[in-house]
Amino acid sequence: MRINGNFLRLKDSYLFAKVGAKTAEYLSAHPGREVIRLSLGDVTRPLPPAVIKAMQRAVDDLSHKDTFHGYAPDATRFGYDLLLDSLIKSYAEKGIGLEKEEIFISDGAKSDCGNLSDLFSAENTVLIPDPVYPAYLDTNIMAGRKILFADANEGNGFLPMPDERVRADLIYLCSPNNPTGAAYTAKELKVWVDYALKNDAVILYDAAYESFVTDPSLARSIYAAEGAKECAIEICSFSKTAGFTGVRCGYTVVPKALKREGFSLNRLWARRQSAKFNGASYVAQMGAAAVFTEEGKRETAENIAYYRQNARIISDCLTRLGIPFTGGVNSPYIWMKCPGGMDSWSFFDHLLERANVVGTPGCGFGKNGEGYFRLTAFNTHEKTEEAMRRFAALRI
Ligand code: PLP
Repeated sequence: MRINGNFLRLKDSYLFAKVGAKTAEYLSAHPGREVIRLSLGDVTRPLPPAVIKAMQRAVDDLSHKDTFHGYAPDATRFGYDLLLDSLIKSYAEKGIGLEKEEIFISDGAKSDCGNLSDLFSAENTVLIPDPVYPAYLDTNIMAGRKILFADANEGNGFLPMPDERVRADLIYLCSPNNPTGAAYTAKELKVWVDYALKNDAVILYDAAYESFVTDPSLARSIYAAEGAKECAIEICSFSKTAGFTGVRCGYTVVPKALKREGFSLNRLWARRQSAKFNGASYVAQMGAAAVFTEEGKRETAENIAYYRQNARIISDCLTRLGIPFTGGVNSPYIWMKCPGGMDSWSFFDHLLERANVVGTPGCGFGKNGEGYFRLTAFNTHEKTEEAMRRFAALRI
């Protein structure tokens, strides 16, 4: 028996585990200190009442013989009609037509970000933005693929565009980006789509933060770019849209028009899901469907507005202090340059020890993240304000 030796090529500690461990170490050495976490990638607002009510009704359904539900209706795509119809309507409002069979209900974006890797040969070359959400890199290291990076930096506004000299088979895009908050326009995505089509590549597009987009010139789906249905899979989630990080529900769009080597990726993914997945719960799906009701839309928008206000508190403070940053407008993340030329972990230690504020070191998201730092808008107004007061008092 041999283990998958690719696991030995993974970095030892997952970024957030290291942030947690360092914070715990500090607290155990300094008991009683109040540490404020602006490192949270997790939501903190309670679920919208419309979602709670729908989930309560779903629980009631499960308690009666006539309305009970077991496995989801379709053993490949797992979607209940109510949710699928709501998603189709929501895409249609963005001018994108989808069929039911193109939507796969998942237990969130993270699993599919990694699982979709099953569809592609280990011999493919992968292109991953740097910096970005670490799951793409880790899962492709596990799969043993050759990995190239698309550099995101100040020079390109943290929005890398295709390099015609680079040949990639599988391309990850994350927009709005975690951690930089930068987001593509449909016109920019069209350049990626054209590049993918020319190279016979497939784009895995992570739209987990699409609901934070306010600027109408920015895309909320890769299918806003013409031709994307022939080259792109879209992964999305109710986690950040509606606070489902603990409930777990997401969806992945695999268009029927997406074919490689003459095979439909939609059919391959359906086959893969039927073998390795068993759906998201009825209760979670009914809750997710409620996000699209008038009440649900209003309440989810209120929660997002709450986080957006935190982003504004952070942005205003950084602006006052003259610290360069991006993000925070179409994203819950603020990507700041570490002051005084500090590296990411030195600034992490500095902020933790001197202000008792925790953020996430940018270097954990890729080599281009070195010297940067991610702050998030997911804490309360009060704590965000207090954190920024402490931040300003550092006089850095
Ligand atoms: N994709 C990105 C870019 C994320 O930042 C996250 C979580 O932080 C996820 C996916 C995971 O989302 P989910 O909770 O749906 O698994």
